[in-house]
Amino acid sequence: MKIVLASNNQGKLQELQAMFAPLGVELIAQGTLFTGEAPEPHCTFVENALSKARFAAEKTGLPAIADDAGLCIDAFGGLPGVDTAYYCTQFGYEKSDANNVRAVLEQLAGHSNRKAAMVSTLVGVRHARDPEPLIAVGRVAVEIATEPRGSNGFGFDPVLLIPELGKTFAEMEPAYKNQHSHRGRSTLAMMELLRSSWLA
Ligand code: IMP
Repeated sequence: MKIVLASNNQGKLQELQAMFAPLGVELIAQGTLFTGEAPEPHCTFVENALSKARFAAEKTGLPAIADDAGLCIDAFGGLPGVDTAYYCTQFGYEKSDANNVRAVLEQLAGHSNRKAAMVSTLVGVRHARDPEPLIAVGRVAVEIATEPRGSNGFGFDPVLLIPELGKTFAEMEPAYKNQHSHRGRSTLAMMELLRSSWLA
């Protein structure tokens, strides 16, 4: 079975390809099949992931799986949430991982509550109008570190501290991050759904 991975984020694609490998399906990054980005106008991860999955299925005629992820900071009422990728642009910075990290450190300066959650929501559709999408959510409690640590991973990884492990995601080897991450959890749940419905 061929499934399109509906993301252009290289960091995510590498993680998802590695974790879905045991399923034995052919996962194709959408960028090798078409250009363009799905609209993401919604305020929840699940709606945006559904939009991305439907868009990729429509463009390719193949089943598609999309991941919408983000950082939900307790002190900010769960924001930036779906606006995580563009977080730093609210403060006049150009969009980049480094500027996102800088912005979150600046905005949390002086806050004693540095608790947050990283969330990954995976949605799978068999075709663009699939009425029964597969939905898997993974969440991990983190603390925002007071300075960046480590050089692995991508996005906010250098400041995503897992308190019980005493490390940021950027200080972990990729396979170790996947064992403990939001996306590791959502992927495990999605593999179970795929096995019991699409591959049964
Ligand atoms: P999107 O779901 O691709 O739009 O990603 C939303 C934002 O979350 C982007 O800024 C990503 O860099 C960031 N992000 C997504 N997954 C991770 C992760 O596993 N670690 C750190 N940052 C992430």
